[in-house]
Amino acid sequence: MSTRVPVIAGNWKMYKTPGETVSFFEQFRPLVERSTHCEVIIAPPFPCLPAAAEGARGSRIHIAAQNLHWEKEGAYTGEVSAGMLAAAGCTYVIVGHSERRQYFGETDQTVNRRVRAALGAGLQPIVCVGERLEQREAGETDSVLIQQFEGAFAGLTPEQFSPILVAYEPVWAIGTGRTATPEIAAQAHRVIRGRAARCFGAAAAESLRILYGGSVKPDNIKGLMDRPDIDGALVGGASLDAASMASIVNY
Ligand code: PEP
Repeated sequence: MSTRVPVIAGNWKMYKTPGETVSFFEQFRPLVERSTHCEVIIAPPFPCLPAAAEGARGSRIHIAAQNLHWEKEGAYTGEVSAGMLAAAGCTYVIVGHSERRQYFGETDQTVNRRVRAALGAGLQPIVCVGERLEQREAGETDSVLIQQFEGAFAGLTPEQFSPILVAYEPVWAIGTGRTATPEIAAQAHRVIRGRAARCFGAAAAESLRILYGGSVKPDNIKGLMDRPDIDGALVGGASLDAASMASIVNY
């Protein structure tokens, strides 16, 4: 029986103002107050982090950022460092989301640099991996996942790897309404866990929490969470509404 604590994380992407963040937390907090069965994480855009940290203060809700830069500080206009995020109240950070890979040139090498920077500031990275539709159709899913995993975590020790969470997010399922079946997701999670065992040992693989992401909604979360290899969800669109996110948390 796994001792992994489930995680339900919401990625707001580029939605909501600070004022809307305050309203969200006012509605959301009472709905998840008794939800002790899992960890809850909300990842708002950068300008909403102070409002989110304040809204979550004294609750069990953790705050994540959606990206970070690997340098501590410097002339990098528009970038935000791990230390700044920690100071703003983040304890987690999403790294290598497919939208960053697709639109902003993120590579496995830059994911690796960001992971190291996050760990250096005491943030827990939630590292996204996942195949595109044409890669799945070409039978390349496993090799894509393995390559992304090995690239993201190259050179880390098992101790450095231990706080990391992985999110399996098939690109064809993100924002499309097309969820991977629990079977497809669980199979990908087994591939990822198998690679974690090879790279970092059996104990690290056993304790690694792997979230599924891609059109998770209140009506499909249960089927996913019933799978022993699925340790949680990274939720995009459905995390924007407090009631919908709470019903996913309370699956
Ligand atoms: C995401 O942004 O990580 C995501 C999975 O989005 P959605 O739930 O909207 O598919």
